[in-house]
Amino acid sequence: MSAETLVKSHKIFKEKYGKKYSSLFQKLVEEGQKPKTLFIACSDSRVVPNLITYTKPGDLFIARNIGNFVPPFSPDSEASATPAVIEYALSVLNVDNIILCGHTECGACKSLHQEIPADDIEMTNIRKWLQFGENAKDQALAFVGTEDKKTLYSATEKFNVIEQLKNLLTYPAVKRKVAEGQIFVQGWYYHLDSGEVEYFDPVEHRFLPLEIVLEKADAQTMEKENRIDQVADA
Ligand SMILES: [Zn+2]
Repeated sequence: MSAETLVKSHKIFKEKYGKKYSSLFQKLVEEGQKPKTLFIACSDSRVVPNLITYTKPGDLFIARNIGNFVPPFSPDSEASATPAVIEYALSVLNVDNIILCGHTECGACKSLHQEIPADDIEMTNIRKWLQFGENAKDQALAFVGTEDKKTLYSATEKFNVIEQLKNLLTYPAVKRKVAEGQIFVQGWYYHLDSGEVEYFDPVEHRFLPLEIVLEKADAQTMEKENRIDQVADA
Protein backbone atom coordinates (compact mmCIF):
# COMPACT_ATOMS: atom_id res chain seq x y z
CA MET A 1 0.00 0.00 0.00
CA SER A 2 1.58 3.28 -1.10
CA ALA A 3 1.65 6.51 0.91
CA GLU A 4 -0.76 8.05 -1.61
CA THR A 5 -3.20 5.18 -1.09
CA LEU A 6 -2.99 5.77 2.67
CA VAL A 7 -3.91 9.43 2.20
CA LYS A 8 -6.93 8.36 0.15
CA SER A 9 -7.81 5.76 2.77
CA HIS A 10 -7.69 8.42 5.48
CA LYS A 11 -10.20 10.46 3.47
CA ILE A 12 -12.51 7.43 3.36
CA PHE A 13 -11.99 6.95 7.10
CA LYS A 14 -13.13 10.54 7.76
CA GLU A 15 -16.17 10.17 5.51
CA LYS A 16 -17.17 6.76 6.80
CA TYR A 17 -16.27 6.87 10.49
CA GLY A 18 -15.88 10.59 11.23
CA LYS A 19 -19.57 11.10 12.04
CA LYS A 20 -20.15 7.62 13.42
CA TYR A 21 -17.43 7.95 16.04
CA SER A 22 -17.30 11.73 16.57
CA SER A 23 -19.07 11.59 19.95
CA LEU A 24 -16.76 8.77 21.11
CA PHE A 25 -13.67 10.67 19.96
CA GLN A 26 -14.89 13.81 21.80
CA LYS A 27 -15.66 11.86 24.95
CA LEU A 28 -12.20 10.26 24.94
CA VAL A 29 -10.60 13.69 24.63
CA GLU A 30 -12.75 15.34 27.30
CA GLU A 31 -12.63 12.50 29.82
CA GLY A 32 -9.23 11.10 28.86
CA GLN A 33 -8.47 7.48 28.11
CA LYS A 34 -9.41 4.79 30.60
CA PRO A 35 -8.50 1.52 28.89
CA LYS A 36 -9.06 -1.56 31.01
CA THR A 37 -6.67 -3.76 29.08
CA LEU A 38 -3.00 -3.75 28.22
CA PHE A 39 -2.59 -5.76 25.03
CA ILE A 40 0.93 -6.89 24.09
CA ALA A 41 1.23 -8.18 20.54
CA CYS A 42 3.67 -8.71 17.70
CA SER A 43 4.29 -5.93 15.16
CA ASP A 44 3.25 -8.35 12.42
CA SER A 45 0.87 -6.52 10.07
CA ARG A 46 -1.52 -9.48 10.13
CA VAL A 47 -2.10 -9.20 13.89
CA VAL A 48 -4.52 -6.32 14.47
CA PRO A 49 -5.46 -6.09 18.18
CA ASN A 50 -8.58 -3.93 17.84
CA LEU A 51 -9.86 -6.03 14.96
CA ILE A 52 -9.45 -9.42 16.63
CA THR A 53 -10.92 -8.21 19.92
CA TYR A 54 -13.70 -6.24 18.22
CA THR A 55 -12.83 -3.16 20.29
CA LYS A 56 -12.96 0.58 19.78
CA PRO A 57 -10.56 3.49 20.31
CA GLY A 58 -10.00 3.88 24.04
CA ASP A 59 -10.47 0.19 24.84
CA LEU A 60 -6.94 -1.18 24.53
CA PHE A 61 -3.59 0.21 25.62
CA ILE A 62 -1.24 -1.51 23.21
CA ALA A 63 2.43 -2.47 23.15
CA ARG A 64 3.61 -4.00 19.90
CA ASN A 65 7.07 -5.21 19.08
CA ILE A 66 8.81 -7.86 17.04
CA GLY A 67 7.93 -11.21 18.62
CA ASN A 68 5.59 -9.84 21.34
CA PHE A 69 8.55 -10.03 23.70
CA VAL A 70 8.58 -8.71 27.26
CA PRO A 71 12.13 -7.89 28.36
CA PRO A 72 12.52 -9.13 31.98
CA PHE A 73 12.37 -6.30 34.52
CA SER A 74 15.74 -4.86 35.43
CA PRO A 75 16.25 -1.54 37.25
CA ASP A 76 19.59 -1.18 35.46
CA SER A 77 18.49 -1.86 31.90
CA GLU A 78 18.58 0.83 29.23
CA ALA A 79 15.36 2.66 28.35
CA SER A 80 13.11 0.43 26.30
CA ALA A 81 9.61 1.03 24.97
CA THR A 82 7.81 -2.14 26.07
CA PRO A 83 8.84 -1.97 29.77
CA ALA A 84 7.76 1.70 29.82
CA VAL A 85 4.36 0.79 28.32
CA ILE A 86 3.89 -1.94 30.95
CA GLU A 87 4.75 0.39 33.82
CA TYR A 88 2.49 3.16 32.48
CA ALA A 89 -0.42 0.75 31.98
CA LEU A 90 -0.11 -0.62 35.52
CA SER A 91 0.89 2.44 37.53
CA VAL A 92 -0.86 5.30 35.73
CA LEU A 93 -3.79 3.78 33.84
CA ASN A 94 -4.46 1.03 36.38
CA VAL A 95 -5.55 -1.54 33.80
CA ASP A 96 -7.40 -4.61 35.03
CA ASN A 97 -6.17 -7.06 32.40
CA ILE A 98 -3.04 -7.88 30.48
CA ILE A 99 -3.29 -9.97 27.33
CA LEU A 100 -0.02 -11.23 25.90
CA CYS A 101 -0.78 -12.31 22.33
CA GLY A 102 1.47 -14.51 20.22
CA HIS A 103 0.55 -15.82 16.80
CA THR A 104 1.10 -18.46 14.13
CA GLU A 105 3.68 -17.94 11.37
CA CYS A 106 5.63 -15.51 13.58
CA GLY A 107 8.70 -14.28 11.69
CA ALA A 108 10.46 -13.38 14.95
CA CYS A 109 10.08 -16.90 16.35
CA LYS A 110 11.35 -18.35 13.08
CA SER A 111 14.31 -15.94 13.12
CA LEU A 112 15.34 -17.32 16.51
CA HIS A 113 16.41 -20.47 14.66
CA GLN A 114 18.53 -18.58 12.13
CA GLU A 115 21.89 -16.90 12.52
CA ILE A 116 22.11 -13.16 11.98
CA PRO A 117 25.75 -12.34 11.10
CA ALA A 118 27.36 -10.31 13.89
CA ASP A 119 28.87 -7.91 11.35
CA ASP A 120 25.52 -7.03 9.76
CA ILE A 121 25.21 -3.50 11.13
CA GLU A 122 21.79 -2.98 9.55
CA MET A 123 20.38 -5.76 11.74
CA THR A 124 22.07 -4.65 14.98
CA ASN A 125 18.93 -3.98 17.00
CA ILE A 126 17.05 -7.00 15.68
CA ARG A 127 19.92 -9.27 16.72
CA LYS A 128 19.94 -7.76 20.21
CA TRP A 129 16.14 -7.82 20.52
CA LEU A 130 15.88 -11.51 19.61
CA GLN A 131 17.74 -12.42 22.84
CA PHE A 132 14.35 -12.12 24.57
CA GLY A 133 13.13 -15.17 22.66
CA GLU A 134 16.09 -17.43 23.45
CA ASN A 135 14.38 -19.29 26.30
CA ALA A 136 11.39 -20.10 24.10
CA LYS A 137 13.70 -21.31 21.35
CA ASP A 138 15.65 -23.57 23.73
CA GLN A 139 12.48 -25.09 25.13
CA ALA A 140 11.01 -25.74 21.70
CA LEU A 141 14.25 -27.40 20.56
CA ALA A 142 14.31 -29.60 23.66
CA PHE A 143 10.63 -30.47 23.30
CA VAL A 144 10.22 -31.20 19.57
CA GLY A 145 13.76 -31.28 18.09
CA THR A 146 14.73 -30.01 14.66
CA GLU A 147 13.34 -32.66 12.33
CA ASP A 148 9.98 -31.07 11.59
CA LYS A 149 10.54 -27.33 11.11
CA LYS A 150 6.84 -26.44 11.05
CA THR A 151 6.30 -28.14 14.41
CA LEU A 152 9.45 -26.52 15.78
CA TYR A 153 8.31 -23.03 14.79
CA SER A 154 4.81 -23.41 16.20
CA ALA A 155 6.24 -24.87 19.43
CA THR A 156 8.57 -21.86 19.63
CA GLU A 157 5.59 -19.51 19.20
CA LYS A 158 3.67 -21.22 22.00
CA PHE A 159 6.63 -21.47 24.39
CA ASN A 160 7.25 -17.81 23.61
CA VAL A 161 3.82 -16.88 24.97
CA ILE A 162 4.54 -18.83 28.18
CA GLU A 163 8.03 -17.33 28.58
CA GLN A 164 6.82 -13.77 28.02
CA LEU A 165 4.07 -14.29 30.62
CA LYS A 166 6.82 -15.29 33.07
CA ASN A 167 8.79 -12.17 32.14
CA LEU A 168 5.71 -10.04 32.78
CA LEU A 169 5.65 -11.32 36.36
CA THR A 170 9.15 -9.94 36.94
CA TYR A 171 7.68 -6.39 36.93
CA PRO A 172 7.06 -5.28 40.52
CA ALA A 173 3.65 -3.76 39.78
CA VAL A 174 2.48 -6.85 37.85
CA LYS A 175 3.75 -9.21 40.55
CA ARG A 176 2.06 -7.22 43.32
CA LYS A 177 -1.28 -6.78 41.55
CA VAL A 178 -1.43 -10.45 40.56
CA ALA A 179 -0.70 -11.45 44.18
CA GLU A 180 -3.44 -9.09 45.40
CA GLY A 181 -5.89 -10.39 42.80
CA GLN A 182 -6.19 -6.93 41.24
CA ILE A 183 -5.19 -7.89 37.75
CA PHE A 184 -5.90 -10.70 35.31
CA VAL A 185 -3.08 -11.88 33.04
CA GLN A 186 -3.63 -14.21 30.11
CA GLY A 187 -1.57 -15.53 27.18
CA TRP A 188 -3.21 -15.83 23.76
CA TYR A 189 -2.14 -17.60 20.58
CA TYR A 190 -3.78 -16.11 17.50
CA HIS A 191 -4.17 -18.12 14.28
CA LEU A 192 -3.52 -15.87 11.29
CA ASP A 193 -5.39 -18.08 8.84
CA SER A 194 -8.63 -18.76 10.74
CA GLY A 195 -8.81 -15.83 13.18
CA GLU A 196 -9.19 -18.36 16.02
CA VAL A 197 -7.56 -17.69 19.39
CA GLU A 198 -6.26 -20.24 21.89
CA TYR A 199 -5.33 -19.25 25.44
CA PHE A 200 -2.73 -20.75 27.74
CA ASP A 201 -4.45 -22.51 30.63
CA PRO A 202 -1.94 -22.45 33.52
CA VAL A 203 -3.81 -25.17 35.42
CA GLU A 204 -3.90 -27.67 32.57
CA HIS A 205 -0.60 -26.25 31.25
CA ARG A 206 -1.73 -26.29 27.63
CA PHE A 207 -3.39 -24.09 25.05
CA LEU A 208 -7.18 -24.36 24.77
CA PRO A 209 -9.78 -22.64 22.54
CA LEU A 210 -10.61 -19.20 23.95
CA GLU A 211 -14.34 -19.97 24.04
CA ILE A 212 -13.64 -22.39 26.90
CA VAL A 213 -12.94 -19.36 29.12
CA LEU A 214 -16.58 -18.34 28.72
CA GLU A 215 -17.82 -21.89 29.33
CA LYS A 216 -15.71 -22.11 32.50
CA ALA A 217 -16.97 -18.68 33.66
CA ASP A 218 -20.60 -19.78 33.02
CA ALA A 219 -20.01 -23.03 34.91
CA GLN A 220 -18.56 -21.08 37.85
CA THR A 221 -21.51 -18.68 37.87
CA MET A 222 -23.98 -21.59 37.81
CA GLU A 223 -22.10 -23.31 40.63
CA LYS A 224 -22.19 -20.08 42.65
CA GLU A 225 -25.92 -19.62 42.01
CA ASN A 226 -26.58 -23.23 43.02
CA ARG A 227 -24.70 -22.66 46.25
CA ILE A 228 -26.74 -19.51 46.95
CA ASP A 229 -29.98 -21.45 46.22
CA GLN A 230 -28.89 -24.23 48.57
CA VAL A 231 -28.18 -21.72 51.33
CA ALA A 232 -31.56 -20.01 50.69
CA ASP A 233 -33.38 -23.38 50.81
CA ALA A 234 -31.66 -24.47 54.00
ZN1 LIG B 1 5.24 -12.22 15.07
